[in-house]
Amino acid sequence: MFLKKENNSIFRTVKFQVALWYVMLFSFSSLLFFSIIYVFLYVNVTRQVDERLITVSEKIEDFYLKGESYEDNELLAPNVHIPENIIAIAENAVKNLVVVHSETVMVDNKLLYEITGVSSDIIYEVKIDQNEKVLEIETKVKNELEFLEKGFVAESLREGTKTIFICLISPDGRILANSDLSRWPGLRFNRHFIEGVENETGKFRTVTVSGVSNKVRICDRRIFDGNILEVGIRLSYEEKLLKTYSNIFISVFLSSLFFGSAVGWFVSKKSMAGVDRVSEAALNIGQGNFSGQVPYGNEGEEIRNLVSAFNDMINKIRFLITQLSEVTDNIAHDLRTPITRIRGTIETTVGGDPSIENYREMAGEVVEECDRLVGMINTMLDITAVDSGMLVLSKTDVVANELLTRAYSLFSPLAEMKDIEFILDLPPEPITISCNIPYLQRVVANLLDNAIKYTPEKGKILLSLSSDDNNISIIVRDTGCGIGTDDQKHIFDRFYRADDSRSLPGNGLGLSLALAIVKAHNGTITVESSQSTGSIFTVKLPK
Ligand code: ADP
Repeated sequence: MFLKKENNSIFRTVKFQVALWYVMLFSFSSLLFFSIIYVFLYVNVTRQVDERLITVSEKIEDFYLKGESYEDNELLAPNVHIPENIIAIAENAVKNLVVVHSETVMVDNKLLYEITGVSSDIIYEVKIDQNEKVLEIETKVKNELEFLEKGFVAESLREGTKTIFICLISPDGRILANSDLSRWPGLRFNRHFIEGVENETGKFRTVTVSGVSNKVRICDRRIFDGNILEVGIRLSYEEKLLKTYSNIFISVFLSSLFFGSAVGWFVSKKSMAGVDRVSEAALNIGQGNFSGQVPYGNEGEEIRNLVSAFNDMINKIRFLITQLSEVTDNIAHDLRTPITRIRGTIETTVGGDPSIENYREMAGEVVEECDRLVGMINTMLDITAVDSGMLVLSKTDVVANELLTRAYSLFSPLAEMKDIEFILDLPPEPITISCNIPYLQRVVANLLDNAIKYTPEKGKILLSLSSDDNNISIIVRDTGCGIGTDDQKHIFDRFYRADDSRSLPGNGLGLSLALAIVKAHNGTITVESSQSTGSIFTVKLPK
């Protein structure tokens, strides 16, 4: 069943999708790359074939004109450009000469220009040397068709009758002469092929000829007398070349596709390993196991950050759960005591003297306990609201000197009752801070209340205000019982009370609330205390 689930879901995994994208991208780019090379190769091969066709066509035309082939001591110098002035010299040498063909040959290592043209139906060949001197003007008799056919046969035999065919076609589409066409059974001539055929460039097409196993490239050129010279070459070598290339491409493509997908799968699997670890840990947490940590791997920065964020989250959840259970325990404990007290009071009254005074006294005590309970619950709610950020404290500017003066006046009678010397030490200049006034008043009130509560008679309390460039400090210093070093670590925890203070009234929530409020103001609250000299609470708030 597990396997089945795995099989069904594998296509939906990020690993699979990343590998798929990788393969698709890879296939597309290599197809594009190979296609570009193929097109480039095809264009080049075709161009070479076309050049070969033109060369053969020009050679045949020359033969047709002059009725002769190259002489033994002549060598064609195909790449030598014939200058314009050489053509002009030939035109000057023969009156009304219309040049139809020109070429350069090498005779005894010397360059010779041969300009062939027609004038008054007579064919002339003007030979000019490299010094631009007219060496000879020969008149030619126009080649006869049977003679031309011999030339076709000779040329096609030289190239191979299976490889090349040559035809001379009249402008109205009749075949005037042709090479041996027995190897080209499916060759058909159509008038529309030769329409628009020009002399210089020729018209090219690639066709399939039935009975010929390869494609055929055909060049049609209009020659000097208006007839069309058609030369065709079977593309056997070229097709073989392109096929070999395609085969190489297919095998390279398939094997790299296989390796590419394997690599893609491996890479995505490796990079997702961290995510798998995190999701496994999340599953564990879902089952209530908060003790684990996600181990770090070497998948890279992003996964490291994810693991680190996840571990931080687990730690925070673990901390919150511990805190929650502690708070729950404390609440249960701290609520039980007053409720037990209320119950005891009621029980004693009901079982004792049923006079109205007794009942009035009981009711008074119950109301007092209930008030204390409500106060405690409200403080708890306040701490939670401020701590969690649910309650956003709106801030206004206030002169801290005035705020402390008001607190001083409020607590002076209490200090007086215990015969405590209570001193207010304010700087001469007013110090303005931005704060939530009622909540900051609660902080100061809690600190002063504690100082009076934990300082014995005839003690001393100092409430002072100071400031530097960045912060203002409210300091409450007393000469009370002080706080032990171990207790100092916990006094800001909810419901925490040092053993010495349990005999005094209180619920252990005052400093927790003060801390939550100060934090909400981006400030700090610290304590320095010794059991011999007393305690100093310092609240620092940013200006
Ligand atoms: P409560 O005063 O109601 O017990 P608080 O949260 O205000 O709760 O204080 C927590 C504990 O810190 C007190 O129980 C007491 O042990 C200790 N404490 C606070 N202020 C002083 C002080 N000025 N001198 C000595 N102990 C103090």
